[in-house]
Amino acid sequence: MRKLVAGNWKMYGLASSLAEIEALKGLTGEAACDIVVCPPFTLLEKAAERAKDSTVAIGAQDCHRQISDAYTGDVSAEMLVDPGARFVILGHSERRVFHHETDAMVATKVTAARTAGLTAIICVGETRSERGDGKAIEVVGAQLRASVPAGASSSNLVIAYEPVWAIGTGLVPTIEQIEEIHSSIRQRLEELGEDRRNVRIPYGGSVKASNAAAIFGAENVDGALVGGASLKATEFAGIISAAA
Ligand code: 13P
Repeated sequence: MRKLVAGNWKMYGLASSLAEIEALKGLTGEAACDIVVCPPFTLLEKAAERAKDSTVAIGAQDCHRQISDAYTGDVSAEMLVDPGARFVILGHSERRVFHHETDAMVATKVTAARTAGLTAIICVGETRSERGDGKAIEVVGAQLRASVPAGASSSNLVIAYEPVWAIGTGLVPTIEQIEEIHSSIRQRLEELGEDRRNVRIPYGGSVKASNAAAIFGAENVDGALVGGASLKATEFAGIISAAA
């Protein structure tokens, strides 16, 4: 399966950061994997302009479940497509924690994204205490069941496994732990239907150029969702080249 390497810039990035997209284009050229950069909403249009005619696609980090209505401060999926986004990250643990997003809310957003023509990157993953209690597979399975809506398929859906305890901490699960969860996700996707068999499952959480090759070598790991290490083109390009 062709891998997908996506950079989640989170709440980082001003106009000056767009130079990283220019640099990335120069460093990656004809990459052997799909590349996505997800800057904040404010940079989407300019980022899409910079990435035009390159192998870098642009994504956003959230969308509202409705097409349009009276929701002050919210952004719809259609509003992401307009400036040129093709992907949207949904249900990131930081949204689940700081904005109290539930699996059911994520599912409605995924449907909105698909209706607008976006590919949704749904994030799932257990907390440190859930792993400690031996519940990682169960938690991820429950998130998956409740946040993947009908109609989602490999052409419009990506599932990122992001253990919460590995995000921004420098901690990375062992390859065996990654393989265990990824294979359980693959199995559940297959149970959900034939057209979900080929949904890509990238790993996220403290991925860097120095550990990417080992992570990409794990079974059922179809790429990476990268936070901090996606902010600098040279480091991000190192991860992308490991996916070749
Ligand atoms: P880090 O790569 O900074 O650990 O963040 C991962 C992440 O949350 C990507 O969505």
